[in-house]
Amino acid sequence: MTIHEIKKKIVQYTRLVQSRGYTVASEGNISVRLPDGYVMITPTKIIKDFITEDDLVVVDMDGNHVDGARKATTERFTHLTIYKKRHDIDCIVHAHPVYTVLSTVIGTNPFEEIFISEAAMFLKKVAFAKFAKPSTKEGADAVRDVCGNSDVIVIDRHGSFTCGKDVETAFSLLEILEKYCKMYYLASMSGKPINFIDSSIVEELRNVPY
Ligand SMILES: [Zn+2]
Repeated sequence: MTIHEIKKKIVQYTRLVQSRGYTVASEGNISVRLPDGYVMITPTKIIKDFITEDDLVVVDMDGNHVDGARKATTERFTHLTIYKKRHDIDCIVHAHPVYTVLSTVIGTNPFEEIFISEAAMFLKKVAFAKFAKPSTKEGADAVRDVCGNSDVIVIDRHGSFTCGKDVETAFSLLEILEKYCKMYYLASMSGKPINFIDSSIVEELRNVPY
C-alpha cells in the first residue's frame, strides 16, 4: 500500500469511527505502522469529522515528530508501547465507545461469560487495563502490561484500543466490541437472566481462525 493509500484509509476510518459515535469532538485516534518503521497517526485537537489527509502526522518509535504540519495526539505513547510489544500488528484504533466504557463505570465485566458467538470468534480474549490519567506514562504502562495476548484492550473508565494487521480489522474489532457491550447492558437492564453459551463451546469458538 502506498503512503497516499494509507493516509486515505486513516482519514476514512477516523471519520467512520466518529460517525458511528465511538468518539465525539476531538476524541480518539488511529495509527498505522509504516514500512520504514515510523508510525503515521492522527493529530491532537482536531474535530474528527473534518480531518483530512494533510492533518496526519508521522512520529518515530519514541514519539518524536518526523513529518506533518500538526502535533501528534498526546495518546501516541500508548500506541507506540503496543507496537513495541506486538510486532504482529500494524494498526491501532483508539476510541471512547459509550457502552464499553459504561460497563467499566458501573463495574461490570460483559466478558466473564459470553452470549453470542461473534464475541468469542472475533474478539477472542478481551484484556482490561487499570484506570490511569489519559496520555500519561502510567496509562501507556497499564496497556502494555495486558496487550501481549489480546487485540482488544478495554481501559477502565476511559476507552478501548483495538489492534490488527490493517485498519479494517482494528475497526471491526471496535465495532463488535461496542455492539456486544451494548447488548450486554440492554440484556442486564431487562431484568431477565442472560442465556450464556457453554464455556467449552466459547473456547472452541475462540480457536476458530479469524
Ligand atoms: Zn482516550
